[in-house]
Amino acid sequence: MNEFAFAIHGGAGVIDPANFAPDRRQACAAALRGIAERAVAALAAGRAALDVVEQAVVELEDCEYFNAGYGAVLNGDGEVELDAALMDGATRAAGAVASARRTRNPVRAARAVLDDGEHVLLIGAGADAFAAARGVECVDPAWFVTDERRVQLAAAQAEGRVSLDHDERYRDDARGPAWSETERKSGTVGAVARDRAGHLAAATSTGGMTNKRPGRVGDAPLIGAGTFADDASCAVSATGHGEYYIRRVLAHDVHARIAYAGATLAAAADAALAEVGRLGGTGGLIAVGRDGDAVLPFNSPGMYRAWYAGGRVHVGIYADPETD
Ligand code: ASP
Repeated sequence: MNEFAFAIHGGAGVIDPANFAPDRRQACAAALRGIAERAVAALAAGRAALDVVEQAVVELEDCEYFNAGYGAVLNGDGEVELDAALMDGATRAAGAVASARRTRNPVRAARAVLDDGEHVLLIGAGADAFAAARGVECVDPAWFVTDERRVQLAAAQAEGRVSLDHDERYRDDARGPAWSETERKSGTVGAVARDRAGHLAAATSTGGMTNKRPGRVGDAPLIGAGTFADDASCAVSATGHGEYYIRRVLAHDVHARIAYAGATLAAAADAALAEVGRLGGTGGLIAVGRDGDAVLPFNSPGMYRAWYAGGRVHVGIYADPETD
């Protein structure tokens, strides 16, 4: 039994090493390591899992390498629409926002929804207004938009495709056209934790898919699809092509396999992700269990991730540590 557990992801996808500039790779890995080490220190000091996953996702949202908050991908109108959720495994309280455009850190808006307790999911202008009224920082929608995202959107629109984040940076990888559009999907950030009191929590935040239809909502803010936590089983945050995760209710599927069928965390996570794969969906998930185990399976070539095990933080991008 591990006293506490922690994992984060920064999205999954093709992430071909041959097209991944070493300085960018190192910067991504260093960002993940720093965020995970601060979170682990907070858990070691006795901080609550819910607070720790919220803070980790705030830091990931503020990091432009990842598709959430500042630097998130753009929809078909060239604007950001941000989705986020978090869930407390102790109380099974949850809060989420979808299609927010003005809230600097959407996970903070989700936390305000959770703390308020009346609703679980707020969308669009209502979500932004609620967050502002609760003292969550608001910004002009243009603040989120980076030059890199404008270029990415222009490329997606020129090819008439709707896609997720990381893959597009690596479109000309070694497998070239052998990668299907679905395999190229990725993005998003998330965190899961078990604290020293045995409580679990999960949080997820994303800009969704590049060139998505305005108004499209992915799996991240849908409790049970991209985000779920229950002290009796596990805490889960997913990344990948959200439509498949919604159709498989992925995060709740991991919980259900543990709670109802007695599966181990690893078996439940693998089996739930395999169901997504059977539909044609790629990506991954991170999960911690009630005993403090952490698993990070993915069926795409890479997933940005960091986790705590054996007394230290590990960082990975590819399946094979040799290429990390
Ligand atoms: N799951 C997210 C969505 O579909 C995106 C991602 O994980 O990259 O909105």
